[in-house]
Amino acid sequence: MNLKGKRVLVSNDDGINAPGLKVLEKAVKGLGAEVWVSAPETEQSATGHSLTIRRPLRIRKVSGKRYAVDGTPTDAVLLGMKQVMTDRQPDLVVSGINRGGNLGEDVTYSGTVAAAMEGRLLGVPAIAFSLVYDDAIGPRWSTAEHWIGPVLEKIAGFDVPTSVLLNVNFPDVAPTEVTGIEATRQGYRKIGGDIREAHDPRGLPYYWIGAQRVEDRFAEGTDLEAVHRGAISITPLSLDFTHKGTAKKLKKALKERS
Ligand code: MN
Repeated sequence: MNLKGKRVLVSNDDGINAPGLKVLEKAVKGLGAEVWVSAPETEQSATGHSLTIRRPLRIRKVSGKRYAVDGTPTDAVLLGMKQVMTDRQPDLVVSGINRGGNLGEDVTYSGTVAAAMEGRLLGVPAIAFSLVYDDAIGPRWSTAEHWIGPVLEKIAGFDVPTSVLLNVNFPDVAPTEVTGIEATRQGYRKIGGDIREAHDPRGLPYYWIGAQRVEDRFAEGTDLEAVHRGAISITPLSLDFTHKGTAKKLKKALKERS
């Protein structure tokens, strides 16, 4: 993707001060793009594609072309495009780099992916970037930093339908240990395996959803399998959630039963 002179809107779900946002801004700027930022004021991880409609939103100008919105990632992209970049819309929306992978079913909870979804829904090509990491070592930003350019170069000119966005995940390995850039499909991964119950100071129970997930790291061709092998995973995600095979079968079944 030749970004020279292109207008790029950068957002995320980790918030305006997140290190991953700065890494993404810097990388896109380095490719010659005119970079605008509209990101949530505070961390909005796992807010999915939620839109704030029952309270007003504020846009705070942080500096130059950087703005913070006191809402969700979806709010930030919507207001960024409709209220901030009013003279000319972006040529590309990028989101991330998320602190943590967005693999398998994560994509349905992810605010990072949702920010890209919002850009795509507003008619602009969109890419979500996430970095898999382990608590013991922490995020290896240098891997994402080093590989964003090559990823964008690899997909340059590739025609993505208007209902599709790209979900990129960087593996948890050193930059030199990355084994390749691969096209994948969404694998299986479900969060919620670790729910802690405790009691508040008044003796009432509360519940805290932990990070533990049930996942399949071995299904060939999936995002999960690729990153666990040290590869960068690119999954095309469709905004049309219809399962076409089942829709066809259902149509037939309903006809037969009428
Ligand atoms: Mn996040």
